[in-house]
Amino acid sequence: MRIRRRLTSWYAFVIVLAALGVASLFGLTILRNQVEQRARTAASDSASVAVALTVHRNVTEADFTGATGLTAFEIGDLDGDVATLVREHRVVGLEVWRSDGVNLYADNGHPAGESILPPGELARIARGEPWIVTNSTDRGVATWEIFLPYDAGSDGEPDGLVEVLIPDTAIDGNVATTGRQLYALALSVLAMGGLGLMTLRYRLVRREHEAIHDRLTGLLNWGGFRDTLRAAINIDRAKPRQSGALLLVDLDGFKSVNDTLGHPAGDALLKQVGNEIRATVRAHDIVARLGGDEFAILLTDLNDPVAATGIAAQILARLRSTAFEVEGIGLGIEASIGVAPILGDKITVDALLSQVDIAMYRAKRTGDGVAVYDQVADRHDLRDLTLLGELRRAIDNDELALHYQPKADVVTRDVIGVEALVRWHHPTRGLLAPDSFIPLAESTGLLRPLTHWVLSHAIADAAHWQRGGLEVPVAVNISPRSLVTGDLTAAIVDQLARHQLPSHLLEVEVTETAIMTDPAGSSHVLRQLRALGVRIAIDDFGSGYTSLAYLRTLPVDALKIDRILITDLTIDDKGLAVTKSIIDLGHSLGLSVLAEGVETAAAWRQLELLGCDEIQGYLFARPMPAGQIEGWITSHRHANESVEVPAHAAVFGGR
Ligand code: C2E
Ligand code: CA
Ligand code: CA
Repeated sequence: MRIRRRLTSWYAFVIVLAALGVASLFGLTILRNQVEQRARTAASDSASVAVALTVHRNVTEADFTGATGLTAFEIGDLDGDVATLVREHRVVGLEVWRSDGVNLYADNGHPAGESILPPGELARIARGEPWIVTNSTDRGVATWEIFLPYDAGSDGEPDGLVEVLIPDTAIDGNVATTGRQLYALALSVLAMGGLGLMTLRYRLVRREHEAIHDRLTGLLNWGGFRDTLRAAINIDRAKPRQSGALLLVDLDGFKSVNDTLGHPAGDALLKQVGNEIRATVRAHDIVARLGGDEFAILLTDLNDPVAATGIAAQILARLRSTAFEVEGIGLGIEASIGVAPILGDKITVDALLSQVDIAMYRAKRTGDGVAVYDQVADRHDLRDLTLLGELRRAIDNDELALHYQPKADVVTRDVIGVEALVRWHHPTRGLLAPDSFIPLAESTGLLRPLTHWVLSHAIADAAHWQRGGLEVPVAVNISPRSLVTGDLTAAIVDQLARHQLPSHLLEVEVTETAIMTDPAGSSHVLRQLRALGVRIAIDDFGSGYTSLAYLRTLPVDALKIDRILITDLTIDDKGLAVTKSIIDLGHSLGLSVLAEGVETAAAWRQLELLGCDEIQGYLFARPMPAGQIEGWITSHRHANESVEVPAHAAVFGGR
């Protein structure tokens, strides 16, 4: 991350590019030197050949030592040989000097003022050392001057010097052109390097952008917003005069858009909502989408804390008045906005986020649209919210456990199944009953993971018992929202297959209120489950208002009479009458009927008289941890076989 950050800064970019430039210049210099060295060797070779073809053929050792110089005859021959080389563009000219510096021959006559060599060059001749003057211009042509000490008598002592002018164009590799090519090469390497570097930088910058932005809306995402918020809190603390606020916008009923129009439509709507929110707030305010239909806005530099509420109200008004349209369908949007002021005193990001969450929930609950966090009023919600965060972890950390409560046949007392009841081993609060956390899960996104957790563990347990030779159907409670939010059937199919449990060993318990809240949706899912072979029971029956006519159309196997009615059973006649009519109704629909919450032998006896099929309750057995249920059932069956019917009186001593 730090390396990436360094690479993405312009400063680093310039430094790397400069380093690349220096490196390529360095490489270029080395290359150029090599080329030049090669050219020098080639030029010397050419000069030696020229000397052999001219001087060597026509000039004797005596010419160097005698005082007369070359004969006219020798000069004529030499001129002829040199002219041939000049014609062939192999040399431009040639001159011969004695070691005392006197000129013996020049192909174009004697150049004025150059008849005596300077002392430095004479010393070089004496040492037998060749030298080259590159890139001079002679006779209007770019040449190299090659000075070769000449030994006419092959005694190892140089007698003089031959100066050969080689045209630049004849030198291997043509140094000037090669140089230009090299520079062009270096430049393109540099350009390509720079381009590559720029692309890399662009990619890194883009990836960094993507990491902290929401793809759908282009707004900051949760991670990006969190960092921004953290920085902003620190800044605001340093400038206590100004204040800021955190806003949390949650759309009302967004889920139904997703469910009815599909996810692409939901996405399109979220995009538009993001745009509208962005357009409502000030340019320096920061807008983020935290996930789902939740947007957060960080307002800074507010002169007055009340201003935040005003901005929240503006956002709400804008969302309400905008005609959103997805797939040609016009949609009205309602939202709830929580406001948490940032007041310059010490607060952590997490605390601020829970405050704004609480405020948003209150806005949602009261239907006020906007609610500002209030430390005193919201204390209760904070407990819920803390618990919610803990529940999230509990699901992941397996702090949850299933207890199982046996169900019995009214007459034979045989265990005909068990109901899975979830518990939470809270690290500080001890064992929590489902009523203290299921409603919390139901009002948030935690219900789905919770339901899946329960399903997978209950199915795994039942499969485990079956492998051990104990075939007991397991019943799982399904919350109303789990029933209709889509993937319940898929999850059940998946878990049954994973643990290889036959579907008839699974039962789902659904409350009648769940069914009546969304009759069409729930009956669709129930039909799917029924088709799989999963048993279906209506839970807490008699506590709500299920239309009896409707019950006929539902794919149901069993009714579970609500505990309240059973408690009343032996107390008054009304309870008895209601229970009797439910049992009769169930039977007339071909359903088996179970009575819940049977705590006394009197109630059991009564239920047997009424023709109830099954019972469940503390009298028969309390819910017990998964580890105990196998042993309990085995020993119960064993005891049950050796006792006469009616057993409820005998076994439970008429409690
Ligand atoms: P429920 O489905 O009606 O479950 C029966 C509840 O009655 C259980 O409470 C059980 O312990 C209790 N009970 C059983 N026999 C007797 C009795 O003779 N007398 C009395 N007074 N109570 C008895 P529990 O386990 O606290 O569960 C409460 C509710 O929580 C359940 O009611 C069910 O609606 C919900 N629940 C439990 N587990 C789950 C779950 O895994 N998923 C969902 N969605 N809901 C669950
Ligand atoms: Ca139940
Ligand atoms: Ca029940």
